[in-house]
Amino acid sequence: MNPIIELENQYSAHNYHPLPVVLTRGEGVYLWDTEGKRYLDMMSAYSAVGHGHADPRLVQALVHQAQRLTLTSRAFYTDRLGPLLKYACELSGQDRALPMNTGAEAVETALKAARKWAYQVKRVPAGQAEILACEGNFHGRTIAIVGLSSEAQYREGFGPFPAGLKCIPYNNLEALEAAITPHTAAFLVEPIQGEGGIIIPDKGYLRGCAEICRRHHVLLICDEVQTGLGRTGKLFACQHEGVQPDGLILGKALGGGLLPLSLFLAREEVMGVFQPGDHGSTFGGNPLACAVALKALKILVEDRLPERSAELGEDLLQQLHRLQSPLIREIRGRGLFIGIEVDPQRVTARAVCEALMERGLLSKETHDVVVRLAPPLTIAREQIHWAVECIIRTFQELEE
Ligand code: PMP
Repeated sequence: MNPIIELENQYSAHNYHPLPVVLTRGEGVYLWDTEGKRYLDMMSAYSAVGHGHADPRLVQALVHQAQRLTLTSRAFYTDRLGPLLKYACELSGQDRALPMNTGAEAVETALKAARKWAYQVKRVPAGQAEILACEGNFHGRTIAIVGLSSEAQYREGFGPFPAGLKCIPYNNLEALEAAITPHTAAFLVEPIQGEGGIIIPDKGYLRGCAEICRRHHVLLICDEVQTGLGRTGKLFACQHEGVQPDGLILGKALGGGLLPLSLFLAREEVMGVFQPGDHGSTFGGNPLACAVALKALKILVEDRLPERSAELGEDLLQQLHRLQSPLIREIRGRGLFIGIEVDPQRVTARAVCEALMERGLLSKETHDVVVRLAPPLTIAREQIHWAVECIIRTFQELEE
């Protein structure tokens, strides 16, 4: 056993099941292990490394800001937060934004905003506000968020959960309509379910959700922590349906793959419920993260990374469809957000990821049956061709 792996296994909680590789360096779409072996990163830290590893422009923004000012807390104004929030609001069409650090924190922020909005604006009696989410969702790991999950493994042993949280079938407009009560504050939804296994709802689903929510005076909150910032071929996945949600959650790639930063963005009426002292975070909106995130957003737009994701994702998907293997049930995706669903009777997604790793391609299984492919949006066409060849050969080998 590798001593570095042994050390981590001995001292860390076993809340992950990493692939047995020790990474020490990353540049662009590549990662290197301690032996100097190079891997193509088709995982991007669960889609958080949209810009590729160590983009020199982001590193420069980080170093420049680190030498100037890194942390003051929100007890004071800094010259970095305002410009980031302005740009994020302009790009998303939202009025205001609240900075946090992780995706889960921004989701919690959205849930708090929705409950207080229901209380203050919709006049739902105190403590009665209800939140709806979808079966198969993934919004993070806090107690309230796993209270919204339909996954036994995420919930088991962690209850009791807050009241007023309900899961309804995904991709089902009738179920949404039927679940709404006068106490419903918000419907929280991923435009495409990521951790759930790259589940793409029918065309018109999100638009239908928006229409139902508007009619019932329920907030539509899109969790774009994973689908946002170009991953699915548009800057925001809800733009595929021309939907403008009441609240939008961003994280992951917002920090340029360098550091954590998340945002809850919303309309004035929703964000207006927060008063000083209601909510916050010591590190949320720190100048270091804001400087990097502003640069990360500018690079996304200037380098046309969402457009690139759309073009190259289609290319990748088309080439993968050449793969006719009895081990595969379905290959689906949008932009550079692709899932290969395997037949669990024949092979586990984990075994596929391990075999791909041997050949120098890093990916990660989700739910035993889906191999997720989500490379940095900066991946080149030749690298995609290489990945496809690698995947085809790996499946051929596993069939034998
Ligand atoms: N929402 C979605 C849609 C996610 O995919 C994730 C992470 N996979 C989260 C929220 C949670 O983000 P974090 O791990 O930064 O808390």
